[in-house]
Amino acid sequence: MKNTWGQACLHFIFPSLCPLCREVVDHESTLCATCWPKIEFIAPPYCDQCGLPLETASLHEKEKCLSCLHHSFSFIENRSAILYTHTSKKMILDLKHGHKLSIAPLLAAWAAHRGKAVIQKSDLLVPVPLHWTRLLKRGFNQAAVLTQHIGKRTNKSYLLNTLKRIKKTPSQEGLTAHARQKNMQHAFVVDKPEKIKGKSILLIDDVMTTGATLDASAKVLIQSGAKCVRTLTIGRVRPHIKHESNI
Ligand SMILES: [Zn+2]
Ligand SMILES: [Zn+2]
Repeated sequence: MKNTWGQACLHFIFPSLCPLCREVVDHESTLCATCWPKIEFIAPPYCDQCGLPLETASLHEKEKCLSCLHHSFSFIENRSAILYTHTSKKMILDLKHGHKLSIAPLLAAWAAHRGKAVIQKSDLLVPVPLHWTRLLKRGFNQAAVLTQHIGKRTNKSYLLNTLKRIKKTPSQEGLTAHARQKNMQHAFVVDKPEKIKGKSILLIDDVMTTGATLDASAKVLIQSGAKCVRTLTIGRVRPHIKHESNI
């Protein structure tokens, strides 16, 4: 009772706000009734490999998008929580460039919920790293922050400093899928590979665009002894819209 009264007082003095429009909301880490419907959660049917939503449900057990019918990744499967739309982009950029770390628990909760199956199949969570110069400039790696929140929510172990980005890659924006792949060549290394040896890894990032960053990271993890790699991102860009993750 005392606790409830205390919480009510605290809420009165410091009300919880919707991270998108700053409207007062009942609970911490939630959106207001106006903003909530603007988030497009990804639900089946989606591509079995890259997690892209598909137009129609398949009669077959396995279904792939047009792109994945001709292209495979180093990771087994990707799952993303929400589509990268104008609204979700604002949330992710507020976290990344606006330093609003208070948004991270909400985004992580969505990823933990929608990515439940890939989390359960994995031994270890690993974030896509930033190059140290970018980390120094920003002060944090959004993928690592999200990984910590997802790990704590799901009781999964995570390793924040084993996968490293050694190449300062230019922005991926405006590049073709092939150019993005080339851009990511030799960008990552694994420090202390014994920590990932034989493990099923879940690689975590904020946004998946073409999958070039996730693919290059997964490739290095496999080459360094990981048993397999799955990936989980908060946002998923529809193929015709150009944005980039982890920049
Ligand atoms: Zn709102
Ligand atoms: Zn696909």
